[in-house]
Amino acid sequence: MTKPKSIIDEFLEIEDPWMISEEKRKEFLTASIIEAVEHHYKNNPVWRRLCDSKNFKPTDIQSYEDLNRIPVISTRAFKGGFNLLSVPEKDIVKVHVSSGTSGNRSRVPRDRITLERQKKSLFNTIKKFRVSDAGYFAMMSPSPEEISDLAIANYSRTACEMVQNFDFFLKLDGGFQPDKVVEKINSVKERPINIGGAPMLIMALAKYILETGNRITTITEDSGISSGGGFKSPSGDVVDRKTYNNLLIQAFGIKEENIRDVYSMSELNGAMLECEHHYKHVPPYFYLSIRNPANLDEEVPVGEEGLPVFIDPLAHSYPGFIIADDIVSMQRSSSEKCSCGQPGPVLKTNVRRAEGAEEKGCGRHVAELKDQLTK
Ligand SMILES: [Zn+2]
Repeated sequence: MTKPKSIIDEFLEIEDPWMISEEKRKEFLTASIIEAVEHHYKNNPVWRRLCDSKNFKPTDIQSYEDLNRIPVISTRAFKGGFNLLSVPEKDIVKVHVSSGTSGNRSRVPRDRITLERQKKSLFNTIKKFRVSDAGYFAMMSPSPEEISDLAIANYSRTACEMVQNFDFFLKLDGGFQPDKVVEKINSVKERPINIGGAPMLIMALAKYILETGNRITTITEDSGISSGGGFKSPSGDVVDRKTYNNLLIQAFGIKEENIRDVYSMSELNGAMLECEHHYKHVPPYFYLSIRNPANLDEEVPVGEEGLPVFIDPLAHSYPGFIIADDIVSMQRSSSEKCSCGQPGPVLKTNVRRAEGAEEKGCGRHVAELKDQLTK
């Protein structure tokens, strides 16, 4: 007996869901989210209790305009204490952990259905927005085999599966050797050359090149650099994006439009990739709303900073209805087009962690959550 296909799975089958009409996109998204809301309400007692405390019922969602009413869970709830499973524990194939300091890591349980959807969503997004989906990929990160439970490994793995040849250059036992990276990139036959990883390691490679003059000679017009994981150095300083771009242009001779950053979090089953204008595009599978840190039920106007709420219907094993403690701002509403010509909401380049007063909003939210769930 085969189960009828979910609406979200049909949505994932569309090769370029950015290019369907806005009306159709909203229709698909709303229907997918209604399905997800019904599933988690029925199978997740913790989330159902949160809904009950807010007098929310799945039937409250009748249209796209109602999606803002879905009760959300802070990403901090994934850092411990809460059982967020919407499927039997035996169905969990992988528990992904975020890269952060120990004790402060999210643990996100995924079943086979969620893993497959996550892969398709990443694949469609990378194909749409990366500079290139062919050639050689030099990843400045440990291989997924070495760190398969790290959420970021999923992204690297999917990106590498799309090219002809790739290597991972951060060895857990041997550290990072920039001379080996240059030597290997100069010896491969595949084009274009793609370089990826954490901004700090890409910068370390760039500085090595500028200091030694040992340059990469195989960069072509269509070569690209993609980074992810944030621009904070280990000492806590935030690297300015313009400084980062200029360093990369000097060291690699790469076009600025081909320097792209990715924003995501371990709780999401997709990623926001930059276009050539450095805006981060929200995948059509997510509903995004930006909230006032002082009042999480209040949406801020387009252009203003706030905490992002993502409604992610791809999550099957846990409710993908989350609020993150990052500060972002939407550049355009979902009905406008980006300078690159693609429709749908985009985030401005800068994403940072919530601090001080902004952070209090997330803290209050978790306290409230704990309160409701332990009653
Ligand atoms: Zn764009």
